[in-house]
Amino acid sequence: MKVLVTGGAGYIGSHVVRQLTARGDDVLVLDNLSNGHREAVGIAGLEVMNLADSVALNRILGEFRPDAVMHFAAFIEVGESVQNPLKYYQNNTANGFALLAACADAGVKNFIFSSTAAVYGSPENTPIPETASLNPINPYGFSKLFVEQALGDLSASDDFRFVALRYFNAAGADPSGEIGESHDPESHLIPLIFKAATGERENISIFGSDYPTPDGTCIRDYVHVNDLADAHLLALSYLQNGGESAAFNCGYGHGYSVKEVVDTVKRATGREFEVVDAPRRAGDPPILVADSRRLKEALNWTPRFDSLDITVRTAWNWELNRRY
Ligand code: UDP
Repeated sequence: MKVLVTGGAGYIGSHVVRQLTARGDDVLVLDNLSNGHREAVGIAGLEVMNLADSVALNRILGEFRPDAVMHFAAFIEVGESVQNPLKYYQNNTANGFALLAACADAGVKNFIFSSTAAVYGSPENTPIPETASLNPINPYGFSKLFVEQALGDLSASDDFRFVALRYFNAAGADPSGEIGESHDPESHLIPLIFKAATGERENISIFGSDYPTPDGTCIRDYVHVNDLADAHLLALSYLQNGGESAAFNCGYGHGYSVKEVVDTVKRATGREFEVVDAPRRAGDPPILVADSRRLKEALNWTPRFDSLDITVRTAWNWELNRRY
């Protein structure tokens, strides 16, 4: 199958590209390498370009003629989206619309979109089903929700179909150690704890210890990046087999507190480091845990790495031998 992957040099995209190429798909990655890494795309083709360049986009889609498009390219920092919302509406929303327009021109009918639990905002009930109300509490969540809305409208007006995968907290790395998470600056919990474990940082801050959770720290559903990648390949088959457009939560259905993650990293790495209490981070809901029954039932998703310990160990393996 021919698959065009935007953002395929990034963290989640590169793990999907690796699985697609491993099974023999013809994969073309579009990435401007602003946050991605050339080394991460493996044997896939790579076009270094901006999605805002509609001339190049139309040319590439016209030449490559993909059976499906997977759209990962986006900015992902919630805090930054509050400081600089237009950066997010430009890159995530406007460039997303530009990609959809180019796909419509090129006759692309199957589309897989990287969405986020941030579309739910701060939900009342947990775990969160896909039917929960969509009330983002930051521009990042809105920037993704607007694309979901456009996808829904498009699929109602045409024979175009999509799957939106709403990621909870992606974590871990491919066990090969060849690809993994590498953000600069890093803002995610597990890689930041590693920096405390290696001594690159003095300590790890816990953002808020007064949340309404058993130990007072935020609870998240950490899903291994290869289980997320599996969901993309299943979504592709689902669309190929005529499945209806839909959104699916991607998470395990159970969460860990920040303190539990810190303890797991201490255990898995065998390292000691300082942990300090810090104020809450703006925009953090207390608990985000997926109800992922729809993904398991409709796509037959069977997680392979549902263990925080294994997830942390794969990420630590990458951290100790990073290639980029
Ligand atoms: N967090 C923390 N200290 C850090 C980074 C993150 O306590 O240095 C917390 C953060 O407040 C959230 C959880 O860890 O409750 C996961 O944050 P991350 O940025 O990894 O992912 P997000 O939930 O924002 O997608």
